[in-house]
Amino acid sequence: MARIVKKFGGTSVADMDRIRNVARRVKAAVDEGHEVAVVVSAMAGTTDTLVGYTRDASPMHDAREYDTVVAAGEQITSGLLALVLQDMGVPARSWLGWQVPIRTDGVHGAARIEHIDTAEIENRFKQGQVAVVAGFQGLGPDNRITTLGRGGSDTSAVALAAALKADRCDIYTDVDGVYTTDPRIVPRAQKIHRITYEEMLEMASLGAKVLQTRSVEMAMKHRVRVQVRSSFEDTPGTLVVDEDEIVEQQVVSGIAYSKNEAKITLVRVQDKPGTAGFIFTPLADANINVDMIVQDVSEDGKMTDLTFTVPADDLERAVAVIEKHRDDFPFERIIADRDVVKVSVIGVGMRSHAGVAATMFRALAEKGINIKVISTSEIKISVLIDAAYTELAVRALHTAYGLDA
Ligand code: ADP
Ligand code: ASP
Ligand code: MG
Repeated sequence: MARIVKKFGGTSVADMDRIRNVARRVKAAVDEGHEVAVVVSAMAGTTDTLVGYTRDASPMHDAREYDTVVAAGEQITSGLLALVLQDMGVPARSWLGWQVPIRTDGVHGAARIEHIDTAEIENRFKQGQVAVVAGFQGLGPDNRITTLGRGGSDTSAVALAAALKADRCDIYTDVDGVYTTDPRIVPRAQKIHRITYEEMLEMASLGAKVLQTRSVEMAMKHRVRVQVRSSFEDTPGTLVVDEDEIVEQQVVSGIAYSKNEAKITLVRVQDKPGTAGFIFTPLADANINVDMIVQDVSEDGKMTDLTFTVPADDLERAVAVIEKHRDDFPFERIIADRDVVKVSVIGVGMRSHAGVAATMFRALAEKGINIKVISTSEIKISVLIDAAYTELAVRALHTAYGLDA
């Protein structure tokens, strides 16, 4: 007998037929004698609709009320799945975040899980009851509903698995595993059977939305055995594992892209000590995350251009912050560009192999794609390019690193 957490994403619970399909999978695990907790997302599209309502109600929405509204989708699916399970003869009970409770910090809209009290769920396990937990939501320090950021049900599931000391956390979705890149844009992408926590973390944070970044952080910290698999097919999925569990390591394991990027260039800022600090401090104070940065060497030793990226959603705010502090760091003009994408190649094998960057730059050059900004870490290289070239770039890199099926 094992203790298993199973998470089903939005497309897996998109309508009643699919909820019945989920219930059959849960029942099969219960019939095998396992203790099962299920985490569900809202039906596909529901959260987007709810977010739209909050924007319509108030563009400067109060984050607490935003959470009250957008958490509602998971309430519906958790109740429906519990009903269908009961109908199949499986004892089941739904749990909203506050009922468990899943305690979070107070950052409404992007809350972090701090503690999960599993006592009652474990009690019910003893009575053979399945817990159907609403993903994406928790209870903040002010006793109000919080949500965990888009895609947050993955994090609910991994956190619950850690708290329950579950043997496994299965993430069921609309693809049958983690691929070398998004299979929706590169049909020749290959399924990765085992991926390291570190690579999965980079893939997620660099744009592969198959797992929410925080869920991978959580899995890594608590050593939760996460498996990504299909809701619709019975194929083995992708296991997220420690590096020593991987037999044959590729140099590059995957390619990710993120369209949630915007580029800001400050033309002709002063090239003197302290300028960068003056610019980035107010942005940090405004909670705006600066990611890639390049500064040209000035020809005259006086003036230079400074380019950096921020999340696309923060672009307007970033420009406003910079304009406000204009007197602290004079510049000639500011150029803001939303039509960019960040494409990244990821692999722990990069640590021990040279030439990975050269291959990337050559492959992009052959397609006539201009690189605007570059950034690297030990196991990834990212470039910023025109958004129009996203698919071309991802495909070219996929081929260049020998990842095509
Ligand atoms: P769910 O609603 O089940 O949480 P998501 O839409 O959040 O599903 O995540 C699954 C999607 O992630 C897939 O449909 C796929 O298009 C996308 N995706 C992006 N990169 C990858 C990748 N490297 N491997 C698998 N899927 C990926
Ligand atoms: N329903 C939420 C979203 O769409 C959470 C999730 O699906 O993981 O972001
Ligand atoms: Mg998701």
